Amino acid sequence: MRVVWLWAVLAGLLAVLTGPRAMDEDLGRRARALIGEHPEIWSGARTFPGERSLVVGAPGAAVADLADLARRADRASALVARVVGPVRPLVLVPATTAQAAVLAAPASVNGLAAVAGADRVIVEPRSFARLSGVGRDVVLAHEITHIATGAALDGGTPKWLVEGFADYVGYRDAGVPARRAAAELAGEVRAGRLPVALPGRDAFAAGSARLAQAYEEAWLACRYVAGRFGERALSTLYRESRGGDVRAALSRTLRMSPAEFTAAWREYVRDQLG
Ligand SMILES: [Zn+2]
Repeated sequence: MRVVWLWAVLAGLLAVLTGPRAMDEDLGRRARALIGEHPEIWSGARTFPGERSLVVGAPGAAVADLADLARRADRASALVARVVGPVRPLVLVPATTAQAAVLAAPASVNGLAAVAGADRVIVEPRSFARLSGVGRDVVLAHEITHIATGAALDGGTPKWLVEGFADYVGYRDAGVPARRAAAELAGEVRAGRLPVALPGRDAFAAGSARLAQAYEEAWLACRYVAGRFGERALSTLYRESRGGDVRAALSRTLRMSPAEFTAAWREYVRDQLG
């Protein structure tokens, strides 16, 4: 009886310290481990548990901001769970861009609002703060999709499929018209320049001249697959492409050759953005 009472007090105390909800044990363990990896960044950190996520904020972070992020991360995780599968991310919000770079390394945060690791989203605080509410939701769903698909440890799947699928989930319920979500590519298409080939790996490198267009091309390729063949076919195509043989995956999943797929995608791009 006494032990139970003591536990209740401790659990209540933990809830007061961490927010309104009890912290998921696994998420809590992972958070403590990562705080221990970088005490120079996280000493005095604030955590805020969501229902499906846990936000770790820099010391001094406003609780209202962390709560807002936990709500958005929960919503994004629920969306990702519907399309991909269950996921429980940590969302890290360091105080500075330099700290985000340390946490994301060897991945680059250059020009990005957030980056996904194996089980965590690392927020680049300056870029993220400039996003609208819808933009934040899209970015979180994009990065949490990467976590659910294991993108950080996947070198085989073509980059256009990895990024396009993440943007497909990101924009799925956002209600943003294609011409606005793919504004840079739409400008090119209206000027009579239709992309010729799906973007290669280099097109997604930080500092690439057509970085925005590469993401938009990839997004529309995946949106085309989901629209014509269904969301399940898109997921199957992703899974089947893991080994790197996209020709075989396209053939098995969509009964299309790479040339047929490229032609259909170009037509879709013209139709959606022209
Ligand atoms: Zn991505």
